[in-house]
Amino acid sequence: LRVNFSTIQKEMGKIEGLIAILYDITEQEKIDQERREFVANVSHELRTPLTTMRSYLEALADGAWKDDDLAPQFLNVTQTETERMIRLVNDLLQLSKLDRTDYRLNKEWINFTIFINKIIDRFEMTKTQHISFKRNIPKDELYVEIDTDKITQVLDNIISNALKYSPEGGKVTFTIDVLAAEIQIRVKDEGVGIPQDSLNKIFDRFYRVDKARTRQLGGTGLGLAIAKEMVYAHGGDIWAQSKEGQGTTVYFTLPYDPNQEDEWE
Ligand code: ADP
Repeated sequence: LRVNFSTIQKEMGKIEGLIAILYDITEQEKIDQERREFVANVSHELRTPLTTMRSYLEALADGAWKDDDLAPQFLNVTQTETERMIRLVNDLLQLSKLDRTDYRLNKEWINFTIFINKIIDRFEMTKTQHISFKRNIPKDELYVEIDTDKITQVLDNIISNALKYSPEGGKVTFTIDVLAAEIQIRVKDEGVGIPQDSLNKIFDRFYRVDKARTRQLGGTGLGLAIAKEMVYAHGGDIWAQSKEGQGTTVYFTLPYDPNQEDEWE
């Protein structure tokens, strides 16, 4: 807390009163603290792949390039690490765009059931694990006004996590519920789950339940933070429920006007 004193002096020069203004600087300090942590995190996240690459490149330069077995492996590592850095920088750019105060959504009216089914189809076509998809999605038209690129990204981040943390043979269930003034989208998996005390933190920048493990899976720790910003920008909410060892459900909502369709007639 910072305290400023101003004196009120009347013409005579006599002090008649005292005004104390109390500024709450804890909020500002919190923002500064978060920014420092963010920069430290970014530096750390970039240093890890860079130091890995340096040692592999040194080994190659020291002669490993002549080894028919080792050389391709070492080059593969540097390639993977480069790709990770590109993902990280792209995620950071996304976040910095979302942080801008003049940030705008490019909204259009779309039928959400068709929109989400297309996204799920894409994952179903390209998935490499044996994971089954179940869809509890209404057949009716469900018109919402959204920035389709942004909500595609939200779903991409949530679905790729569901796949990443699922065991072989698991099931991912997609559900849409139409509520009074919003639609609720749920993506449920049967994966490793998330400890109770981490459930809120997974939407924080760079938070990971198991750092070593998610790094191995190629994550940046920014996917859900980006999803959160994008859902908030639409006036929706996002959260998760989980039972460790049994699976995770990620929920998000988007504003919806049930009378919308009538108005169009
Ligand atoms: P990452 O790139 O590490 O996946 P995210 O922001 O997408 O970053 O997720 C943050 C963390 O939340 C992950 O590292 C993981 O620990 C946890 N997490 C997210 N989704 C799931 C899920 N479906 N099952 C289990 N853990 C999850």
